[in-house]
Amino acid sequence: MPPAISRDAAISRKVAAISESATLAMDRRAKELRAAGANVISFAAGEPDFPSPPAAVDAALRACIDPRAHHYSPAAGLPELRNAVAAKTRRDAGLKVTADNVLVTSGTKQAVAHAFTLLLDPGDEVLIPSPYWVTYPEAVALAGGVPVAVPGGESTGFRISVDDLERSFTDRTKVLLFVSPNNPTGTVYQRTQMEAIGRWAAERGLWVVCDEIYDHFTYDGTEFLSLPSVVPELAPMAICLNGVAKAYAMTGWRVGWMVADVPVIAAGINLQSHVCGNISNVAQMAAVGALESGLESVDVMRSAFAKRRQLIVDGLSRLPGFECVPPDGAFYVFPSVSGLIGRRVGGRSIGSSLELANVLLDEVSVAVVPGEAFGAPGYLRFSYALQDEAIQEGLERLERLLT
Ligand code: GLU
Repeated sequence: MPPAISRDAAISRKVAAISESATLAMDRRAKELRAAGANVISFAAGEPDFPSPPAAVDAALRACIDPRAHHYSPAAGLPELRNAVAAKTRRDAGLKVTADNVLVTSGTKQAVAHAFTLLLDPGDEVLIPSPYWVTYPEAVALAGGVPVAVPGGESTGFRISVDDLERSFTDRTKVLLFVSPNNPTGTVYQRTQMEAIGRWAAERGLWVVCDEIYDHFTYDGTEFLSLPSVVPELAPMAICLNGVAKAYAMTGWRVGWMVADVPVIAAGINLQSHVCGNISNVAQMAAVGALESGLESVDVMRSAFAKRRQLIVDGLSRLPGFECVPPDGAFYVFPSVSGLIGRRVGGRSIGSSLELANVLLDEVSVAVVPGEAFGAPGYLRFSYALQDEAIQEGLERLERLLT
């Protein structure tokens, strides 16, 4: 357990108001229980179980013995990496960008924090389609902004519409956050829906922050599209975020980036120069190695995830009290468990999805993240980026507990 924040400690109000990331907290709990000898099946953190590509590891090893990697490098990122990111963005997002449009960050999480720090003045509002990844509202609040959740219901596959956005729009709205494929729901927006949302944002003069970290994970013929590529008039006011963590199974290397117009990147470089300077040169070279190795390893992973998605959706749909919208992308399933609220599970009365998640961990050593973390009580998030056998075993444990 991390030590509790003392009420007497001189912690600022804005930091005291946030809590530990629920996804990382559940991952930590699962790992602690494992270290203590428990056989935990963890569907908690969204972290591919594959090794990082050999090309990334080789590039990192070469960088380790290259004296140029031993010292400070540009806060914007290594030129090799900025070039590789620009090429990747042109290929996958269809945006006309060069290395000058790229700022390298310590994981995509830092790019999220930087994007809001760059855009927000105190009181500026950010529209955040909900369910949302746990970190977005905290990052907005830390940057002085006000997160405004825009709920997307299960009946629309968790998609929000222009009407939903319009209802939440005020004269303080400055930014729309757009995430497709989505974490935690796996929702992928179609072109026509994106055209409508993008045009609305452009008409309203909003900035858009697009988290594209799951761009390579779409299934059953759905395709990833980048919002400023679908609605090009948005491009000058768009910040697109991505990284190597998910597509190349490189979560621990902490290399992400933002892609935006040059004036935004110039401000971002200033910010980065005071926040952390350059990202580890060894990690950056590993990212170059990964990006230059092409998409073979990504395709292998996507095929594995496509099979696991079927396995877990079928398994969860059979469980009493679970209802699953099959996800189009990412590697999460977000079933409703409202059928279990008010019932008894493992001898305990269940009052919320948060309590259910605790019971699953205590009773059958299955770790999941409760919907409360994503602004959606009544749901559980399962990551299926783990081995088939582990998924199967986890499903069997749930079935034994619930039937
Ligand atoms: N983004 C992943 C997740 O949602 C990794 C953990 C985190 O940083 O939140 O599980």
